[in-house]
Amino acid sequence: MRALQIVDSNLTTTRLSHVDSVYSLQQLGNTQDIRTAQALKPAPAPAPAHIRSQRQMIDSHGRTIRDMRISITDRCNFRCVYCMEPDVRFASRESLLTTREIIRMARIGESLGIRKIRLTGGEPTLHPELTAIINGIRESTSVEIAMITNASLLTRKALREWHTSGLDRITISIDSLRRDRFARLTRSNSSPEEVVTGIKMCIEQGLQPVKLNAVLIRGFNDDEAIDLAQLARDLGIEMRFIEYMPLDSAHAWDSSKWVSSAETREAIERSFQLISCDSNDHSSTARTFKFADGSPGGIGFISPVSSPFCGACSRVRLTADGKIRPCLFSTTEWDVLRLLRTNATDEVIANFMIDSTWTKQATHGISSPNFHQPERSMSAIGG
Ligand code: SAM
Repeated sequence: MRALQIVDSNLTTTRLSHVDSVYSLQQLGNTQDIRTAQALKPAPAPAPAHIRSQRQMIDSHGRTIRDMRISITDRCNFRCVYCMEPDVRFASRESLLTTREIIRMARIGESLGIRKIRLTGGEPTLHPELTAIINGIRESTSVEIAMITNASLLTRKALREWHTSGLDRITISIDSLRRDRFARLTRSNSSPEEVVTGIKMCIEQGLQPVKLNAVLIRGFNDDEAIDLAQLARDLGIEMRFIEYMPLDSAHAWDSSKWVSSAETREAIERSFQLISCDSNDHSSTARTFKFADGSPGGIGFISPVSSPFCGACSRVRLTADGKIRPCLFSTTEWDVLRLLRTNATDEVIANFMIDSTWTKQATHGISSPNFHQPERSMSAIGG
């Protein structure tokens, strides 16, 4: 069993074993509850009858929901500076969706038009029943199953098991290739080498396309755009730069730390010329580019701050504690856990999902003067 070490801001270290860490991580925190102060509403008003009768999730701005992100745990073995504070407190074990509930929500989601499910967290590979979750979703749906992970805990055996059980694709987050910086950024004792090994194992396992995500923060890792682009070339896969969003549990985001996609692109193009290869998939979050010199791999830019793609959004999120969030930046969420635990029928839950997504806000409004950062951090929502 592999041991992990969590390093908090006081440089206190806590050793955790891989499997035990799922629930023992909650012992770490005692001051901050990532779940509080969100406007939790038990039930949305019914969507109009003509919407309900279509048996699809359509919002009041005309967008149809096809992608569901399911956070299967709020626990994480990293404490990325832009996401989760070291003293975060997790939801109680009883309030987390069970494997059976996750699979049921996936099945109902597919009956309402969901085509792709992304398993996220927290860190999904910490979930002790991940294989059963993948297997259950595969057996009861034909959706594409994707997962996003920090890749620090991957093993060949686990990847083979998940792939055979029905996992189609994997995305891996890697924000720095420098050991000391990686440790400071993730506040873990994991290393970039470990993550790169994990990425190579995913490629070998055929979980294609393997994609990488990086968040650049000014003054922290914004000088690594070229090195990360080089990694994409070396591995022949896509590296996607996500603009830093105000979704950190410390609420320390400010525009001076934010690096625009345009600036990152400019930095990369000083070394590698890029050619746009955007597809017609308007709901795609990334603008994609290939290398003009024909090198394998590519670059994507996800620009929620500088060029919001809300108009084409097709996503809904289900948090690990059973709340539906129609938008990443929702300040209201809908409690489906209560229904799941009170013998509600699939029909009742499906209507609840239709009604919840009908309320999806038009835009996230980050640049609006009235913007309010959601209480939950990205890891508590499910990124
Ligand atoms: N633990 C997994 C991982 O590391 O990929 C899955 C959860 S993580 C919350 C999902 C994604 O959210 C990661 O790619 C991470 O970089 C991104 N993320 C977290 N906080 C963010 C923020 N404030 N702004 C932009 N992206 C963020």
